[in-house]
Amino acid sequence: MRSLVAHIEINQAWCKGCQICVEICSRGVLGYATDVSDKGFRPIIVEKIEDCTGCIMCELMCPDLAITVEKVEK
Ligand code: SF4
Ligand code: SF4
Repeated sequence: MRSLVAHIEINQAWCKGCQICVEICSRGVLGYATDVSDKGFRPIIVEKIEDCTGCIMCELMCPDLAITVEKVEK
């Protein structure tokens, strides 16, 4: 049987570390990189993809279009 799971791409060059996506995700999927980017931000990373429902709220709320959520075959 075909099974879909969420996959998240984060364009760290576009991310300004504003935290909106981390706050909006009720599943605690997203977190912060330990390193600071060239622009002085701590970009977002995916910490718990297994808990992602694929609701795309983070993608919709990111003001910099830095997140893309897809459903892919397992
Ligand atoms: S909402 Fe967008 S710009 Fe803000 S921290 Fe998340 S990915 Fe980065
Ligand atoms: S798609 Fe939904 S559950 Fe997954 S990281 Fe974004 S806000 Fe969280």
